[in-house]
Amino acid sequence: MSVLAAAGAGRLCAVRAVFTCLWRGKYFSSGNEPAENNPVTPMLRHLMYKIKSTGPITVAEYMKEVLTNPAKGYYVNRDMLGEKGDFITSPEISQIFGELLGIWLISEWIATGKNAAFQLVELGPGRGTLLGDILRVFSQLASVLKNCDISIHLVEVSQKLSEIQALTVTEEKVLLERNAGSPVYMKGVTKSGIPISWYRDLQDVPKEYSFYLAHEFFDVLPVHKFQKTPHGWREVLIDIDPQVSDKLRFVLAPCATPAEAFIQCDETRDHVEVCPDAGVIIQELSQRISETGGAALIADYGHDGTKTDTFRGFCGHRLHDVLIAPGTADLTADVDFSYLRRMSQGKVASLGPIKQQTFLRNMGIDVRLKVLLDKSDEPSLRQQLLQGYDMLMNPTKMGERFNFFALIPHQRLHGRNHQMNACQSKPSPSPVAGFGELAWR
Ligand code: SAH
Repeated sequence: MSVLAAAGAGRLCAVRAVFTCLWRGKYFSSGNEPAENNPVTPMLRHLMYKIKSTGPITVAEYMKEVLTNPAKGYYVNRDMLGEKGDFITSPEISQIFGELLGIWLISEWIATGKNAAFQLVELGPGRGTLLGDILRVFSQLASVLKNCDISIHLVEVSQKLSEIQALTVTEEKVLLERNAGSPVYMKGVTKSGIPISWYRDLQDVPKEYSFYLAHEFFDVLPVHKFQKTPHGWREVLIDIDPQVSDKLRFVLAPCATPAEAFIQCDETRDHVEVCPDAGVIIQELSQRISETGGAALIADYGHDGTKTDTFRGFCGHRLHDVLIAPGTADLTADVDFSYLRRMSQGKVASLGPIKQQTFLRNMGIDVRLKVLLDKSDEPSLRQQLLQGYDMLMNPTKMGERFNFFALIPHQRLHGRNHQMNACQSKPSPSPVAGFGELAWR
């Protein structure tokens, strides 16, 4: 039996997403919503107080407050994913997505010498759906992973989502840790007996041999926005609109601001977004992978240093004006993969970004779909599988907007030439599954 047939042994999970939902890959900027559509949320009150006290704030400060303020942040106290929430993500759409990522992890573990132990670290695990699908694959392929000591480490700022993750993967309510000195705020054991810990910061995860996953995580990290003017780069700030009560507006900083240092000297665009927090995380991941091995797989919608204005909001599966009713809608900006690559500072090798469609096809999504379709005779499940496949793969849906990007130790590519080589008309295929074909069947 091929690994794609064995993963989950063709098991169908409960019906997932509804396909009228919108994913987050559309564009929008703050428009001119009528004032009556601008309820004064507790977050708006908090931000107006802040701006009145200290002046206009950066877009990064705005995003950070709106999304992760410990008391009122959008992510902190709610479940925003899925049909009843504000947006939908690939793992919520189809079980096949998580299963293929599970196979990717095992394939990398095998290719790098079957270490006696590994940590699976996920950044921003949402509802834990991706992890649940991966763990099902680990259970089905237990004979391959036998004698490997696996532990799970989740980096999550949201109390509400961490409770949902615990229910998904441990099937029980996990209590908060009482040890104030420990960075682990929750601890449990998965249904299959793997220890799992929750942290608020990647820095606190033990520095051991690890595979890191970040799916739709980097796009919610705060970005600074800049515009080129005749006087040089000026940062876009958020201020109170003097003409309309309780309304915010964008303004340009009158002079240069410190975050300007993040803009490349040879930048040719006239509007850029930079995400220093993403840079810090990539530096940390690169350092860890270069010292202890493993890999990081990052999947998000984004670009390779070409796009300009991608900051947007989502509420109830609709695009939402980013400055209206802050705290009630998701805020996001496309990931600049060229910046992530630069921030790895050559400590590790990077692969991609490649389109989701290519990555999943290389991982064998067509074979896996066929296995599941063959096992199912219920028309509604078959339809759900086919619709999910279309949503993930169709170039006009998520197939081309979402990208996969990986950080791996230089040794992983050792002895192979992945650049165009003088004797070849094509680059040699990557030895890393997804970026080349899955070799392990
Ligand atoms: N990966 C999931 C969820 C994506 S939504 C999926 O694809 O379905 C973004 C996730 O990142 C949420 O779990 C959110 O609570 C978490 N998050 C947002 N900002 C964070 C931060 N600064 N540190 C850790 N987690 C964060």
